Amino acid sequence: MHDARDARPATGVVVDVKAETGSAMPAWERDARGELLVAGQPLSRVVAAVGSTPCYLYDRERITRRVRGLRGAMPPDVLLHYAMKANPMPALVGHVAGLVDGLDVASAGELRVALDTGMAPEHISFAGPGKSDAELAQAVAAGILVNVESFREIAILARAGERLGCRPRVAIRVNLPFELKASGMKMSGGARQFGVDAEAVPDLLREVAGADLGFEGFHMFAGSQNLRHAAIVEAQRKCYEQALEWQSLLPAPVRSLNLGGGFGIPYTPGEGALDLGPVLDNLGELSQRLQGDWPGGHIVIELGRYLVGEAGVYVSRVIDRKVSRGQVFLVVDGGMHHHLAATGNFGQVIRRNYPVAVNRTDLGTETASVVGPLCTPLDLLADRMELDRAEPGDLVVVFQSGAYGRSASPRAFLSHPEAVEALV
Ligand SMILES: *Cc1c(COP(=O)(O)O)cnc(C)c1O
Repeated sequence: MHDARDARPATGVVVDVKAETGSAMPAWERDARGELLVAGQPLSRVVAAVGSTPCYLYDRERITRRVRGLRGAMPPDVLLHYAMKANPMPALVGHVAGLVDGLDVASAGELRVALDTGMAPEHISFAGPGKSDAELAQAVAAGILVNVESFREIAILARAGERLGCRPRVAIRVNLPFELKASGMKMSGGARQFGVDAEAVPDLLREVAGADLGFEGFHMFAGSQNLRHAAIVEAQRKCYEQALEWQSLLPAPVRSLNLGGGFGIPYTPGEGALDLGPVLDNLGELSQRLQGDWPGGHIVIELGRYLVGEAGVYVSRVIDRKVSRGQVFLVVDGGMHHHLAATGNFGQVIRRNYPVAVNRTDLGTETASVVGPLCTPLDLLADRMELDRAEPGDLVVVFQSGAYGRSASPRAFLSHPEAVEALV
């Protein structure tokens, strides 16, 4: 799952996540005693209030700043949705729902959380390659927009609509004929389980027109975790052109052109933050064109990681400090069972350390590895990093942990206790 470790100590990432990763977020600061500050409070106190480690802490104020900042810089006609699978914690989703224009769900479970926030069903959409009949019926009953990903879904939706006496709202999720370049995780181009191949879209449009379905537009998500603005701009333009090619076949004008998201965040010192300027300028241009081609319609972007990823930390406590043949291991009470991505096992090609820090600074620094309690060498949170020295009982923090953390981890593996989550 990741490359062989090389012999050099990994370069140190200390506490200034902003400086170290080029993050667009404010740095995480320490108080005079060397404790990290989370939501304005010393970490040990926040953890004491939460009650136990390991835990995920999501900083409400950082999320607010991030989403408001982006919202304020976006062209006003472009709608911003939150893709819930990045972090489906209900309290967090509730908070984000008050800051964005809509929510994107990927299961009936996420749909329930989305509806609980009070977000109007009109602004909720549902994507996923394997929607069950029951999930599709639930979506129709709830009145949300379904991103159709197969011919089968058309028939199920039409039947559900008849039975429930309401008209299903649909958009077509397209498997684009191109890939998003430089993307951490490709979701389109080539043979994919997502969406309907662009070549088959004309046929699908005819089926939509023939059934009693309300066509609203397209969903085109090329890929995730992209830090290159030029690649994102190029993909968004191609998506627009692609949608325009189908103009004469549309059962109704496009109301929603969802261009996905894929905005990445930096995880390592080598990665700079995404330069949003050109991406937002491009969205502004496309949005203006859209007003000409489909008056009253909107471009939608749906982001997960970019909105919440930098606002979360994963906190564990040192259980043991071991030295093996000269190398220091901090064995902590959390690990890959709660935070698969930080161990490099969530689709990464090469394992790189997330930014990690120890919650004290009074013992000097050393090169240490942070490992979890699982009986596998994959349970590695930090590989030979320059860290402040820690003793058993001290807290260790993994930054950039607000997205694809707890919910994207194999929590049952080895039957250790769950990680608590708190929105602070
Ligand atoms: C995962 C996903 C997203 C969110 O991706 P991020 O990289 O977290 O922004 C958006 N849309 C769809 C359809 C997804 O599957």
